[in-house]
Amino acid sequence: NSNTLLEQTYLHKHVYGKNIMFCVKTQRISAHSHIKGLGLDENGYAIQSAAGLVGQEQAREAAGVVVDMVRSKKMAGRAVLLAGPPGTGKTAIALAIAQELGNKVPFCPMVGSEVYSSEIKKTEVLMENFRRAIGLRIRETKEVYEGEVSELTPVETENPAGGYGKTVSHVIIGLRTAKGSKQLKLDPKKVEVGDVIYIEATSGAVKRQGRSDAYATEFDLEAEEYVPLPKGDVHKKKEVVQDVTLHDLDAANAKPQGGQDVLSMMGQLLKPKKTEITDKLRQEINKVVDKYIDQGIAELVPGVLFIDEVHMLDIETFTYLHRALESAIAPIVIFATNRGKCLIRGTDDIYSPHGVPLDLLDRLLIIRTIPYGRSDMEQILRLRASTEGLEIEPGAISALGEIGVKATLRYAVQLLTPAFLTAKINGRGNIVLGDVEEIGSLFLDAKASSKILTENKEKFMT
Ligand code: ATP
Repeated sequence: NSNTLLEQTYLHKHVYGKNIMFCVKTQRISAHSHIKGLGLDENGYAIQSAAGLVGQEQAREAAGVVVDMVRSKKMAGRAVLLAGPPGTGKTAIALAIAQELGNKVPFCPMVGSEVYSSEIKKTEVLMENFRRAIGLRIRETKEVYEGEVSELTPVETENPAGGYGKTVSHVIIGLRTAKGSKQLKLDPKKVEVGDVIYIEATSGAVKRQGRSDAYATEFDLEAEEYVPLPKGDVHKKKEVVQDVTLHDLDAANAKPQGGQDVLSMMGQLLKPKKTEITDKLRQEINKVVDKYIDQGIAELVPGVLFIDEVHMLDIETFTYLHRALESAIAPIVIFATNRGKCLIRGTDDIYSPHGVPLDLLDRLLIIRTIPYGRSDMEQILRLRASTEGLEIEPGAISALGEIGVKATLRYAVQLLTPAFLTAKINGRGNIVLGDVEEIGSLFLDAKASSKILTENKEKFMT
């Protein structure tokens, strides 16, 4: 029944989902959290540094053309290939394309080799990722409770971007409602004292009414669902927009059901029910989704599926992908590679550009990315440092830029965190040249490491 489907998804996303299912993918995207779009002007030309992207102008302009094609529905049956050396912003540009396509458009990154698992069929892995990249925007009118934010208590946690600084991860808000007061956990950017916010009456927050506040805060919900509204608005019914992916729906309906309290969760551990997502389940979900769409309650939001190291896919998965691209609902598929001509996996002797079969290659728009110059690298490093809340002296940026040119941009960016840690050990809150030098002498980049291994071959086991 359609109501339960939605409700289950809601629970899944807010109670189990956020922390369990999506952590890997979220981490992978968080390295790119400074990227907000392609940074093009109204004529489609790249602004040197805009929307979090720096340099790589030609590729960004080409990506802008892809966005236009998607918008005018000219991408059906086609896909994009980003070709270029590692660390030239391929992932960054793919993410920017998703962002240009609209707010909350799903972006699902994966690596070609992910399809090889001992437990899951290759095509199954692809299908799951396909469904992670297709969104469903559901609009419903819901019963809501209204309350006014009466106090905010900041809660500090380790820097989620991987740095060592502490950031305010959320605030506990005191909320006065007509029925008393409660506490909720919210994103600090979303609320201020005095805001009137609405809480869905069907959400866990209300079901948990009557329990102790300590318990409520532990599980409470994400801020996105609560829209701060001007004071004095007294609606008790409100349109609520939920963005989920088809995979969210699959997973929520395959999960064992039950309450969210500790006891019923334990019960599920002991009595596992069906937890598999099957083709049959997906077909059932599709039917409900079609019904929602027909009723005007929901709309599909095709997102971006990014497949890095496309040469790791084999002929079987390529065949599957090729077919999936033609289906009525497909995400925009963006492949990436740093290989030239190579063997197509799963064949004995078929060589092809980027290891992609020719018939698929024919459908690709290929965009080239080129290595960054020193000044682009420094600009990107500065952006990353400020996103991670790290203070860094110009001399240190310049040294990291040099490291980036010798090794890779990714390596230089990764040094930011240990450099900051060194600064902290030395009693400073900002990264100076000395910190970078100290770190640079402690770690090796991949090129340096492999050089040492080659030069001292006889000392290592083979
Ligand atoms: P690729 O996919 O080509 O390997 P990438 O996009 O994954 O490259 P990384 O090598 O991981 O890039 O880059 C390290 C950091 O630099 C990331 O935070 C990434 O978002 C950022 N970055 C890369 N290119 C750009 C760019 N042109 N502008 C701004 N930030 C960039």
